[in-house]
Amino acid sequence: MTTSVQPPMDLGSWISRRAAATPNLPAITFNDTTLTYGQFADRIDRLAAELAAGGVERGDRVGYAGLNDREFLVALFASARIGAVFVPLNFRLTAPEMSYILSNAGVHTVLADAERAAVVDQISAEAGLRRTIAVAEAPGWESLPELIDSRQPLAEPVHPDPDEVALIMYTSGTTGRPKGAMLTHGNLFWNNVNALLIYDLSQQDISLVSAPLFHIGGLNVTTLSTLQKGGHVILTPAFDPVQALRLIAEHRVTTMFGVPAMFLFMSQVPEFESADLSSVRTFICGGAPAPKALIERYGQRGVTFVQGYGLTETAPLALVLRTDEVDAKVGAAGNQVLPLSDVRLVDADNNPVPAGERGEICVRGPQVMAGYWNDKAATDAVIDSGGWFHTGDIGQADDEGYVYVVDRVKDMVISGGENVYPAEVEDVLFKHPAIADVAVVGTPHERWGEAVTAVAVLHPGATLALEELRDFAAAELAGYKLPLRLDVVDELPRTSSGKIMKFRLRDQLAQA
Ligand code: AMP
Repeated sequence: MTTSVQPPMDLGSWISRRAAATPNLPAITFNDTTLTYGQFADRIDRLAAELAAGGVERGDRVGYAGLNDREFLVALFASARIGAVFVPLNFRLTAPEMSYILSNAGVHTVLADAERAAVVDQISAEAGLRRTIAVAEAPGWESLPELIDSRQPLAEPVHPDPDEVALIMYTSGTTGRPKGAMLTHGNLFWNNVNALLIYDLSQQDISLVSAPLFHIGGLNVTTLSTLQKGGHVILTPAFDPVQALRLIAEHRVTTMFGVPAMFLFMSQVPEFESADLSSVRTFICGGAPAPKALIERYGQRGVTFVQGYGLTETAPLALVLRTDEVDAKVGAAGNQVLPLSDVRLVDADNNPVPAGERGEICVRGPQVMAGYWNDKAATDAVIDSGGWFHTGDIGQADDEGYVYVVDRVKDMVISGGENVYPAEVEDVLFKHPAIADVAVVGTPHERWGEAVTAVAVLHPGATLALEELRDFAAAELAGYKLPLRLDVVDELPRTSSGKIMKFRLRDQLAQA
């Protein structure tokens, strides 16, 4: 009889294996404090033991609400060590938005930073929370550092199967409510195998992580892959362009993931011209197409880009545009170079379209999510019987297989790297007493890529100013979802069945 010699691929094992191999190498630097792999693994296993002692069982969901923090990663890996499912929340969410997600996911234990603890306190009864742990300190909450210090490391970690869920990431839904994309241990592992073959991170890499960890781009594109390879993560609570440039020079950073807006802001501060970028091997950009001018601006400073196209549901990588291709294929999302993933474009009948024709981008591979949490109908609507995930993005491929994202079938605005689903915003705006009818669309915006734009029909005699509308909606919606522009019109263009013709509306606004 033979026994398996394959090392476990579950998320929790990534760090313990590095800790066994290179315990003294730096893993994470956060707020000027560095943890080695050995110290990081120890912290993870102490929290894992604490969570287990507090009643978190295999398959239970553990919530996290806060800015980037090293404890976010400690909690993520600790959850994985006991087979629990980590549910990170966008720190910008309002109390009602958080309450919905915590209840929907059935979270009973939540970790939060002080600012988010105050938000969670407003909803902890209605969300049915049993245990609240403060990342540092919060009134009435248990303190994570104290819990970790007082607990012995977990003796026997769980090794979940590759198809067990490791992470539920909420991504807003077209119906107005966010849906939880279930990412398995296998999804995260295989995304990184794909990614590492493309941008070749190594133990020598030093990754600056300033993008939000609650989003798959910030979490998986460089953070987890750097840690999987034994490299060094420099983590900041949030993104600040001047700080980012300073940290790149100070730590000799070799790579960084960001959405185009982040790289744009870095290039616009006066410090950019004199910043020392000589250590940078490549920046990795995704979430939206990087404008040509931006790539050229960095090119003048000797910095190249790898661009990626992907989604939360594909953990995230699906298409990649490598440095040496950027010039010839500017504007492309990339081509199918991931060894373990297929991409195809299909028509409305789910038949592949030839090069040059538009089709919905579909992805198949081991990085495609298991489905949406507790929502079979929504899952079936996006993953077909052949295992193809339908992205809701419309693409067009050239003869060499490079895909250009040309439109979206899903109704979504991407503003500063954050996805905003119009239906969710419209639901709130409709409650304003001056509004008779309203539609939300994206309009081009120099700084944010797209601006959330409300197009409203007012009740007779009513008036409405943008600021007033924003103040009204701020009680229920995170700041990035609030309209940046308000257009008042006499009527909205509708189909005979009453559906608002958003394409027509966008065209009208572009001409206005
Ligand atoms: P998220 O689930 O938040 O990661 O958002 C995924 C969506 O972002 C995709 O469906 C696309 O609409 C958009 N997206 C991501 N990467 C790119 C890219 N490189 N070019 C164009 N759109 C992108």
